Amino acid sequence: MKIYIFADMEGISGITGSSFVTSDGTHLQEGRRYFTADINTCAQACFDAGADEVIVRDGHARGISLLWDQLIPGVKVVQGTVPHRRFFNIEGSDGMILLGYHAMAGTQRAHLEHTYTSKEIQNIWLNGKKAGEFAIDTAIAGEYNVPVIMTSGCDKLCAEAKSFLPEVVTCQVKTSISQQGAMLLASADAHRLIQEKTMEAIAMLKAGKFHPVKLSPATVRIEYMERMEPMRGLFSDLCDDRTVEATAATVEEAFFRLRG
Ligand SMILES: [Zn+2]
Repeated sequence: MKIYIFADMEGISGITGSSFVTSDGTHLQEGRRYFTADINTCAQACFDAGADEVIVRDGHARGISLLWDQLIPGVKVVQGTVPHRRFFNIEGSDGMILLGYHAMAGTQRAHLEHTYTSKEIQNIWLNGKKAGEFAIDTAIAGEYNVPVIMTSGCDKLCAEAKSFLPEVVTCQVKTSISQQGAMLLASADAHRLIQEKTMEAIAMLKAGKFHPVKLSPATVRIEYMERMEPMRGLFSDLCDDRTVEATAATVEEAFFRLRG
């Protein structure tokens, strides 16, 4: 059994603000440790539940956040830039875990809410419905016949995930208070929860409870915060001065046509 863990940083159990996740943040080194600890806990639980291959994609910002020398033995990790691919080496995976995720841009009082980039993107729609990273990434994984089985993050992320994919196992490691504030569990309690929820999700996977989401062909629309640079409309339709749209055979193709 091959499990693919795509790990983002904002929904990691010890992280409470931007200073833990930005390249010049004062708490970045603590953030990287917490990130690696949640990943290790989840990966170990995958092995304990019967996985013989665990791929971890370091998925925050430029993909170079986790501490490689702290990883548990057995995992393979994908880091850095992978052009035009969201999930390098996803092929043949039995299930995917979206670890450390966050609510979509604009979600009220949601901790570190954004969609892909808080500096550039106001909103994204997938086939006419407003979508966050959870929905878009679940749809892209589905194009490789991989179901998303578990996600971790704050209460707002868990609610968003359940409304898009009711069968997904959610692991709420913190409670949103504001964009820059959250109520945390103690580290040992958060890690125990990640372990339990990962094992629960893999047991459900073995019982055939998950199916890949199929949304293609797909139309992706992105509304940017700033007025358009002239290049942006080159490979897509311009909806207005700040909004572009692309329709393609797959969600991944439409997404990368817009995002490059
Ligand atoms: Zn991130």
